[in-house]
Amino acid sequence: MQKIKMTTPLVEMDGDEMTRIIWKLIKDILITPYVDLKTEYYDLGLKHRDETDDKVTVDAANATKKYGVAVKCATITPNYQRVEEYDLKEMWKSPNGTIRAILDGTVFRSPIIVKGITPYIPTWEKPIVIARHAYGDIYKAVDGLAGEGKAELTYTDTDGKKNTVTVFDFDGDGVVLAMHNTDKSIKSFAKACFNYALEVKMPLIFSAKDTISKKYDGKFKEIFEKIFNEEYKAEFEKEGVDYTYTLIDDAVARIIRSNGGVVWACKNYDGDVMSDMVATAFGSLAMMTSVLVSPDGVYEFEAAHGTVTRHYYKYLKGEETSTNPVATIFAWTGALKKRGALDGLSDLADFAERLERATIETIESGKMTGDLVGMFNLPGVKAEKLTTEEFIKEIAKKI
Ligand code: NAP
Ligand code: MG
Repeated sequence: MQKIKMTTPLVEMDGDEMTRIIWKLIKDILITPYVDLKTEYYDLGLKHRDETDDKVTVDAANATKKYGVAVKCATITPNYQRVEEYDLKEMWKSPNGTIRAILDGTVFRSPIIVKGITPYIPTWEKPIVIARHAYGDIYKAVDGLAGEGKAELTYTDTDGKKNTVTVFDFDGDGVVLAMHNTDKSIKSFAKACFNYALEVKMPLIFSAKDTISKKYDGKFKEIFEKIFNEEYKAEFEKEGVDYTYTLIDDAVARIIRSNGGVVWACKNYDGDVMSDMVATAFGSLAMMTSVLVSPDGVYEFEAAHGTVTRHYYKYLKGEETSTNPVATIFAWTGALKKRGALDGLSDLADFAERLERATIETIESGKMTGDLVGMFNLPGVKAEKLTTEEFIKEIAKKI
């Protein structure tokens, strides 16, 4: 068999623990036998990040900017315990945070739908994609305790002119909080959402609470509207894709009643909460794809879960593990499809589609990893628990 050719390399970011083991299995069993894989490899495993003083993470992000498409394995974000475990020079920052800061992106999370794994809301037949704004609001706020007295908010412009408003006159104990966002970040978020909705041809809802937060949330609404009208409206009409702004409470009601098939752009806190709700309702983090899209159209595909440490420690002891590789497989297929589309390589894109179908059909035929067995319910099909490697080999048979 002739292997499928690639022209531009993918930026490949290797990672840690169980997902690093899965990474190699996927490449060896599901990709390199069929594709003449071209990648520019960056080892973001914690040991190598430490050896390079985390320069490898920055290099990988810059390479992503250069080539446009990356695939990333889950990585450890070090804490005190990891500093000891890996004898680190420093408690390096989260690689995802570093990459996100360089690419200035928005994260889109989408469930992988399989027959037999029914969402808790059975009418959700199609994916609900959450786009979470990842900057500011309460995540970069200052807050404090207050007692009897006055809390004020002062803005000082560059000429030193001050504008002070009273937040509250306290006659007893209380709390205050001040938060911010920037037009620049909101604009990037809006563009990433519009680009993504066009790409997947799904309607886009953006929600906020501008009836209450007239200036703050009003700003978000206004920026989305302006960018949409000036830069995207014509293309949305051409592609038959809708954009709607609505209040967050109305959005929640619409989403619950919908049958899915929508991109839901959320402010930072709403996205934090709603993405956990949607992931749980669809079944599992291991069945969730995640892609970072930058405003200038750079894509980084990954799994939504972490390095599955508990399974890795079992693996190190020589025990059989049944870790779910689906989200990592879909990170690869997402990246290969994108590369195929950008480079006009239809057989590469077709292969990626085929691999996705093979993965889904393998589960639907009753062969799956342990995490899914308890949730699987398809009349006439008995769920069988396989090890990670057995499961990946079953998928290969279906390609
Ligand atoms: P995790 O790796 O997502 O795992 C948490 C638990 O969820 C696992 O113990 C397992 O449950 C279940 N799980 C997650 N993915 C699974 C899969 N593919 N197959 C089967 N079960 C799966 O989160 P964590 O344990 O909190 O974090 C571990 C490390 O990952 C940390 O060092 C953290 O910094 C890192 N992390 C990285 C990323 C990223 O790179 N994107 C994201 C999150 C966390 P059971 O144990 O019950 O089987
Ligand atoms: Mg959360």
